[in-house]
Amino acid sequence: MTFNKQEAADIAHDKCVDFLELNGIRLPEFKEGCKNYGEYHRGLVRYNIARSSVPALNPVRRWSYPGYKADRTIYGIIAHECGHHIWFEKTVFFNRKQWGKWVEITKTTKRISSYEPNYHESFAETSRLFILNPTLLKEAVPGRYDFLTQELELKPSIDRHWTKILKDSPKHLTAAQNWINK
Ligand SMILES: [Zn+2]
Repeated sequence: MTFNKQEAADIAHDKCVDFLELNGIRLPEFKEGCKNYGEYHRGLVRYNIARSSVPALNPVRRWSYPGYKADRTIYGIIAHECGHHIWFEKTVFFNRKQWGKWVEITKTTKRISSYEPNYHESFAETSRLFILNPTLLKEAVPGRYDFLTQELELKPSIDRHWTKILKDSPKHLTAAQNWINK
């Protein structure tokens, strides 16, 4: 099975646009090319297709997979940067009470991935999973799912169950179930 990064970037872009439109969030500008995996600044999402990972089909140390909790494929990168955009557009930044609630939630809930150095990145990682695989977020980290759906009134745009989204990779299926049970 070959993985076409450019094609995947187009699909990832469309998934993010679907999500943002469903939620009435102004679209960011999307641009290919930046130093890091991805970057976000005031309405501009940048992403680096060349640096993005291909899905790990037989993972040992690198577990990136579209819709999995670790996802540095181009799907995960673009959805993560859209997460920063959601924070910016939903003005959590200007709402001290919401901000405080989110900081508390990040302290008391499971992390999505190893990349959560601060609550901004926790929010981007959580949003990434909410955009690409919402039922996995709901079952594994309900506290974070509830913040997005209740506090921010966001709606998921994908209704496929996570077992279907990860169905082509038995190792990810098992790992996701273990993560839920943790
Ligand atoms: Zn980030």
